[in-house]
Amino acid sequence: MTRFDVMTLFPDMVLSPLSESIVGRAQAAGIVKIACHNIRDYSKDKHHRVDDTPYGGGMGMLMMPDPVFDCFEAIVKDAKTKPKLIYLSPKGKLFTQSKAKELAQADRLILLCGHYEGIDQRVLDEIVDEELSIGDYILTGGELAAAVVIDAVCRLIPGVLPDPAAHTEESLENGLLEYPQYTRPRVFHGIEVPEVLQNGDHEKIRAWREAQAIKLTSRLRPDLIEKKG
Ligand code: SAM
Repeated sequence: MTRFDVMTLFPDMVLSPLSESIVGRAQAAGIVKIACHNIRDYSKDKHHRVDDTPYGGGMGMLMMPDPVFDCFEAIVKDAKTKPKLIYLSPKGKLFTQSKAKELAQADRLILLCGHYEGIDQRVLDEIVDEELSIGDYILTGGELAAAVVIDAVCRLIPGVLPDPAAHTEESLENGLLEYPQYTRPRVFHGIEVPEVLQNGDHEKIRAWREAQAIKLTSRLRPDLIEKKG
């Protein structure tokens, strides 16, 4: 079983999207476990405050270091080896399919979600192993980013997808976008499914799909073709 421990102020923002469909079923089957830890539970303040104004002034509030650190300590207390801790952050390295593959090898990961204007740097310096961004835009919190990372990693874990080879043909798996796909009916709004896909010649189908993938990637993502070399 792969375990994800998520440190957050808003557990439902993480758990809700992951309770449905494929990842929901993987949890029910005991293939993955997603445990959320509410950082607010570790506040020592009598009003359970977890944020304060930034030193030096500036907009918004910052998450205080103590509750984040105490939450982290509670998670790793019983761990034999310290799991990797990933902080979801717009300053992080861009999350990619190859990073998802790398993370799918781990049996346990901790994900830390910031909120408001982020988290006091001192606790980040002490506990974070890696920062990951899901794109060049600013979210209100790391919760949706954590859900994106968990979803992408989960589907690469053996047993999560019904067909183990299902993801190997997907966009970005081989550095290309996926070829176009069709299902029934054979003719839709006057447009027929390409003939090559109807004739059952597997070698011709493979060649057509490869050519389509290269054509599509050159048009939509020339940067991927350049990277492939
Ligand atoms: N003040 C921070 C900055 O300029 O870098 C942004 C804080 S953001 C409003 C609040 C939290 O959302 C961050 O601490 C981070 O956890 C999360 N977050 C925002 N954008 C993200 C992104 N693109 N990828 C991953 N996490 C993100």
